Amino acid sequence: MLYKIYIIIAIIVVFCFTKKLNMRYTFLLLFSIITTVLFAQKITVIKCGALLDVRSGQLNKNVTIVVKDNTIESILPAGATVKVKADTVIDLTDYTILPGLIDCHTHVLLQGDITSEDYDVQLLKTSIPYRTIQGTRSCNIALQNGFTSLRDLGTEGAGYSDVDLKRAIINGVIPGPRMSVATLAINSTGHYPISERDYAWELTLPKGLQEISGPEEARKAVRQQIAHGADWIKIYADRGYYKTDGGYRSSPNFTTEEITAIGDEVQRSRRKLAAHAVTRDGIIAAINAGALSIEHGFGMDDECIALMVQKKIYWCPTIYVNEFVADGRAKAGSSINKYFSETEPGLFKKAMKAGVKIAYGTDIGGYDWNMPETKDFEYMVQFGYSPLQAIQTATINAADLLNQPLTGELKTGNLADIIAVKGDPTKNIEILSQVKFVMKDGVVYKSMK
Ligand SMILES: [Zn+2]
Repeated sequence: MLYKIYIIIAIIVVFCFTKKLNMRYTFLLLFSIITTVLFAQKITVIKCGALLDVRSGQLNKNVTIVVKDNTIESILPAGATVKVKADTVIDLTDYTILPGLIDCHTHVLLQGDITSEDYDVQLLKTSIPYRTIQGTRSCNIALQNGFTSLRDLGTEGAGYSDVDLKRAIINGVIPGPRMSVATLAINSTGHYPISERDYAWELTLPKGLQEISGPEEARKAVRQQIAHGADWIKIYADRGYYKTDGGYRSSPNFTTEEITAIGDEVQRSRRKLAAHAVTRDGIIAAINAGALSIEHGFGMDDECIALMVQKKIYWCPTIYVNEFVADGRAKAGSSINKYFSETEPGLFKKAMKAGVKIAYGTDIGGYDWNMPETKDFEYMVQFGYSPLQAIQTATINAADLLNQPLTGELKTGNLADIIAVKGDPTKNIEILSQVKFVMKDGVVYKSMK
């Protein structure tokens, strides 16, 4: 770009001197030409085989998307002539085009933790800089998987590195999705790994989140995390899940004063609250404190379902991660994930019937980043959702939860976050695991023919 400007300047200066134009006109001419060159908008034309309207389920054949810089300028119906001059034409006539997917529950700084040993090794034997380098890889994997936005729910002991990753992506230092980050996450003292009881008591161990005791510390933690760049505050609302005759129960992690203080502080700072909550003991307390999404919720009961519908709270069911860890944890002596996986299909059907809003969240990072990020779609369809409903969880629903109105749907004025797959995902959901093309913010990050 720069060399072009130098050439233009040289030509104009020579021209002006030979024509003996005065300096003011020379500068005006120079200024207008340089700004035109510098701020010229880049037009990309994408020829689509079919474009999925994720709201209606309609497949619009042979449409053309005109992208100006990072924005969808227009979507032209089949047969319409493109009137603008394209800098680039992308031929996706053999593909189905969808909006970029959104994963509302990831851990880019975690590399799988089936057992507590897996977790402890990452916090004790891997430096935060090294984990952040691994995090750059996770971000790129998510993008290559077709996820152009993530809500990353906690660095699990890696400090504020998620804010660094988010910044590096925005600044174009590394490729990655647009990120909403939660930084450290919050739990009450003594209820999160690394657990003191597993090590010599005289050691000071790193923790996977920020611990608080009392409403004042709760408030302070929220303020500190927001000061460091948290978009969301993540709390762990319950622990110690167990099966009863009627379902599941657990121990709430916070006193009412603590969780209320967190919710109040989050609201006053105009941030949003996400709650890891598995049974009614965590779910109801979290919703009352203002949580906008319930993470996991494997043991929720009818009252939780009714409350979530009434208050329009999203559920991120994270189905695959539970399946993934169930066997390993059972071998290590804990069968609870096995029980959850047995009751999950019935719970999903019940929530679906009641009209609980569901946003796509995988908890990838809790399982290996080399494993698929699209398995939850398949489980949702297996449990009763149509493929379109499953796709909506990662598009319009997720965009609504994250308050990203310019994503989640391909329409004029929205951001050019676009993916392509071969075949019709409303007929076969599994093809979402084979994303062939990824554009984020008008820039192509994957193009496999
Ligand atoms: Zn998680």
